[in-house]
Amino acid sequence: MMVEVTINKKYIPQRTCLICKKKGNKQEYFRLVLNNNEYIVDTYQKMDGRGMYICKNIRCVENLGNKKVITKLFHGKDTEKIIKELKGILNE
Ligand SMILES: [Zn+2]
Repeated sequence: MMVEVTINKKYIPQRTCLICKKKGNKQEYFRLVLNNNEYIVDTYQKMDGRGMYICKNIRCVENLGNKKVITKLFHGKDTEKIIKELKGILNE
């Protein structure tokens, strides 16, 4: 995975889904940012901070509630609010 060569796409920044590791361009993902010690949805993908990317599909969004994901990637922070918000966007 680390030695993947993407010469043709080197000018397009690739994002990787936190859950399923699928790569693509940022329009295909939700962006989450740590803000004031809380993870929030960066709707316009313009906020500072290290972003995390999640596919815009219900399976990846629901997996954010997985205990292992919360412990390893969200440092034990509750993701319930984020999941609710992302599901809301998906249902629009
Ligand atoms: Zn995904």
